[in-house]
Parts: sequence; structure tokens; C-alpha cells
Amino acid sequence: MRRPERILVVGAGIAGCSAAIALASQGFGVTLVEKQAEWRFQSSGIFIYGNGLEALRAVGVLPRILEAGFAIEDGRNVYLDHLGAPIVDVFYPRSQGGAVPIVGIKRSEMHRVLADRLSALGVEIWLATTVERVDTEGEHARVLLSDGTAQAFDLVVGADGIRSQLREQVTGPLAPRYTGFGVWRSVHERPRALVAKIMMMGIGKRLGIMPIADDRLYLFGTVAEPAGRWYPKEEWPARMRERFAEFGGPARPFLDQLGADSELLYTAVEEVQAPLPWHAGRLLLIGDAAHASTPFMG
Ligand SMILES: Cc1cc2nc3c(=O)[nH]c(=O)nc-3n(C[C@H](O)[C@H](O)[C@H](O)COP(=O)(O)OP(=O)(O)OC[C@H]3O[C@@H](n4cnc5c(N)ncnc54)[C@H](O)[C@@H]3O)c2cc1C
Repeated sequence: MRRPERILVVGAGIAGCSAAIALASQGFGVTLVEKQAEWRFQSSGIFIYGNGLEALRAVGVLPRILEAGFAIEDGRNVYLDHLGAPIVDVFYPRSQGGAVPIVGIKRSEMHRVLADRLSALGVEIWLATTVERVDTEGEHARVLLSDGTAQAFDLVVGADGIRSQLREQVTGPLAPRYTGFGVWRSVHERPRALVAKIMMMGIGKRLGIMPIADDRLYLFGTVAEPAGRWYPKEEWPARMRERFAEFGGPARPFLDQLGADSELLYTAVEEVQAPLPWHAGRLLLIGDAAHASTPFMG
């Protein structure tokens, strides 16, 4: 098979950006299309373990990620009960490549680092652009873009997230499944002494605290939420306070801070796992488009 010359990556999330960087670094011509009109990715934090950090090393951005985020050098994760009494300390291991065990970072910062790398590699990025149709069979994939232009690519990478539009062409109809849990997340100033990941275990609830920068941490709480319920944004601070009202210990000052000016996010968690294979003709699915798991695995 001849080497693909032009590759289209659909979706500029973590998966699409990483794939575009990896492919462009290998000398492929890459175009990245993103349906959002601005390079704006939902805030709050994310934590990345050794395997993810090794992947970021492989695409050449690990030093910048370490600069922008907060590394927990000893991998310490403190488990407490909901009032702050100790349960156990566990230590995440370093990866085989020697990366720190765990890094917390603001998602917007992670995307800034990925964007800089894309730009350094000269990857073409078209914002406010989606794919109307992909014809995947034959010598080239023929792609009709939302701006009305038709283009030919050797390979189309579908990195368009859990609600992937391209997935159907590979797997047939496959909708995400609601897990029964919602996640409440807020960003706060980090007290200097707070340097570990903390997980507080309540009854049917968990509340975590994770540093994400020198001066910031985020609080994330999981709790059962009814299916199909959405809460207006102005209700979020009061609802998050109420959901975790019984929690004390190190989370209490942050819960008390929640108010109209808080940086806060609510997500009803869904999951999807596409059956193998994750490709059809010249279309390949990656990231959440192929396999979106819950964030409760770490
Ligand atoms: C509450 C929560 C917390 C999480 N916490 C962590 C964590 O701490 N650590 C961790 O490793 N993972 C975490 N995850 C999982 C992680 O966030 C996802 O696996 C990851 O962001 C998926 O990246 P992606 O690029 O595949 O998809 P997405 O981030 O969804 O990106 C898809 C992109 O495609 C764009 N797009 C969609 N459709 C189209 C289209 N038709 N045309 C063009 N563009 C399109 C979207 O606008 C978006 O920018 C968490 C998930 C949740 C729900």
C-alpha cells in the first residue's frame, strides 16, 4: 500500500490534536477540522497518569505539560473518609519511561500546549468546520466539508468525541449510555501545603481534590444523578454544595467558597465502546469516538 499523503483529522480534542501532532511529526500532510468556532476547551482540570504522560512525551509536549501543570512527584493519593479521617495512602507508580506518576493540569492549558505544537509543525487547522459526508471506499476518501468544498484525503481519522458523527459509518448506530453518575467540578486557589491527590469517600459519593497548577487545584465530586436531568448553570454552585453537604475535612473550605463567581462545571457521565474493528475503508476512529470510559478508573 502506498504511503498516505493527505490525512484529515476530525475533532481537535486531546485525541485529535495528539494524532495530528504524531502524524505531522512523521512528515504526513495533516489537516485538522474542529466544529467549534474558537479554540476554546472546557476548563476545570484533568489528571494524567504515567501511560498518558508517556504518550505526551512521544508527541514531544511532555516538558511543556509539566511546566503548565502540577506534578505529584511521589504519586501520593490520600484516601480519607467524608469527614477527613485517614483511610489509606496509596502511591501511583512511575511509568517505565520514568515519567512522574501523576500530573494535574487545566484542560485549557493542555490545549494551549497542544496548539503550540500543532502550529510549530505547520498543521492546517480549520475551525468552525465539520464534515457533512465521507465516502470511504476506493483510492481516496472523498470528504464533503461544511463549507461546501469537496476534498480528497488518503485517510480520515475520526476523533470527534463520544457523540461522534463519523462512528456510525464504522459501527452502525451506537449511542452513548448514561452511567447514572454526574460529576461536579470546580477550580480553586491551591493552599501551598496541598501537594497530593486526595480522594474522600462518602456513602455513594466521592469527592476528590487535585492540584492542577502552582496556584490552582480542582475539586471533583461524583454522585448518582437521575437520567436526563440537566441543571441551569446558575443553580450549579448551590447544587454542588448541597450534593456534598456532609463532607468536611480538606474539602470543606472549597465547598464553602462555591458561589456565583465560581468556575464550575457539571457533566452527566456517559460511556460508549465501539465493537472492533475501529476502521472501515479509509476511516479510522480514535479516542472517545471509539472508546469513552468513565473517569472513575484511576
Ligand atoms: C467528567 C470527566 C472527567 C474526566 N477526567 C479525566 C481525567 O482526569 N483524566 C483523563 O485522562 N481522562 C479524563 N476523562 C476522559 C477524557 O476527558 C476523554 O477521554 C478525552 O477528553 C477524550 O478526548 P477526545 O479527543 O477523544 O474527545 P473530545 O475531547 O470530546 O474531543 C472531540 C472534539 O471533536 C469536536 N467535534 C465533534 N464533532 C465534530 C465534527 N462533526 N466535526 C468537527 N469536530 C467535531 C468537538 O468539538 C471536540 O473538540 C474525563 C471524562 C469526563 C466525562
